[in-house]
Amino acid sequence: MYDHDHRRLGRELDLFDTDPLMGAGLPYWLPDGATVRHELEEYVRELECAAGYRHVYSPVLGKRELYEISGHWSHYSEDMFPPMELGAEEVVLRPSLCPHHALIYRSRSHSYRELPLRIAELGGMYRSELSGVLGGLTRVRAIQLNDAHIFCTLDQAVEEARTALDLIARAYADLGIRASRYRLSLPGQGEGGGKYVADPDLWRRATAMLREVLDTSGVDYESAEGEAAFYGPKIDVQIVDGAGREATLSTVQIDFHQPERFDLHYIGADGAKHRPVMVHRSVIGSVERAVAQLVEEHGGAFPAWLAPVQLAVLPVSEAQAAQAYDLAERALAQGLRVEVVAEGSLGARVRAARLVPYQAVIGEREAAAGLVAVRLRDGRRVEPLAPAELLHHIGARVRARGAELWADA
Ligand SMILES: [Zn+2]
Repeated sequence: MYDHDHRRLGRELDLFDTDPLMGAGLPYWLPDGATVRHELEEYVRELECAAGYRHVYSPVLGKRELYEISGHWSHYSEDMFPPMELGAEEVVLRPSLCPHHALIYRSRSHSYRELPLRIAELGGMYRSELSGVLGGLTRVRAIQLNDAHIFCTLDQAVEEARTALDLIARAYADLGIRASRYRLSLPGQGEGGGKYVADPDLWRRATAMLREVLDTSGVDYESAEGEAAFYGPKIDVQIVDGAGREATLSTVQIDFHQPERFDLHYIGADGAKHRPVMVHRSVIGSVERAVAQLVEEHGGAFPAWLAPVQLAVLPVSEAQAAQAYDLAERALAQGLRVEVVAEGSLGARVRAARLVPYQAVIGEREAAAGLVAVRLRDGRRVEPLAPAELLHHIGARVRARGAELWADA
């Protein structure tokens, strides 16, 4: 295993683990890992809200008929869990969120004035990966997907897809994730066997529009055959992990197929029914893969806003314990994640807290002056500060969600 392997760090840092009784590919999240995940999810929700998305929740199960309509049943069943019998019905763990969102759209009538309508969800989906390929957070059977579907007119689709691509670039910059390349994923040549829906006109139109999105976005990309979704081509944003393995994190698709299958429509300015286009997009892909990539990119030294513990308070001796707990209480009251590290030699405690962005050391001198000595994770030291001033600085950095640990006033 290489140095920043997320599976090793995940276990060492108590982020996540698996248990044979829960099953392979079904990791659980320990409190520190759950904190990172929660912060990431909140970040994505806020980013999407600011970009005009509305979030929904929908169930992880659906009736078999739903996937027969969407086409998953005939084109994607190899990757789906077997159906469960429930009385006279069969229900399925969903392999994607698209069908549920199409039903949510269809449940109300829509005027052209409401479009583009952007429905987002951080929702669960399931994939029956073979146990041989499972490991860590990158190949899992239970997936929390950052997903959204934009229902729009034909004229709006290219712009919506381009804006989605911009949103992906923005999130990567904020999170410190590097895209290795952009890929236009097309169906395979001459591929039979029902892997893709057969509708040449649909493929041609969607592909032309995605090319336009990529060309006008000014990103370099390559086309790849055999990588499309069964219902249409897609833009894949590729990443590379610490071992050099490539994977798809984010996607953007323009889809004419699902709106047909679900008979979606909106009322146009002419008072007549029109077919909307569905833009599928995921900014950070699956939460599991995104956290794995963040662990590897940062080697466990997360930006302050994502860090499981943001501030470690180290009293030099027992005599400063009261001040240490007082500072911790104030930090907690301000919404910071804080830990008092009081056991062991100071050197050992500093090493134990090496991944914590801020370390507040309180010795005899600082305690007498009512100050705190501050060490940053990168080794920098800050002039001793009053507790209120220190917490103000840290709070501002955390709220800014930046990579920089300290901003000189
Ligand atoms: Zn979708």
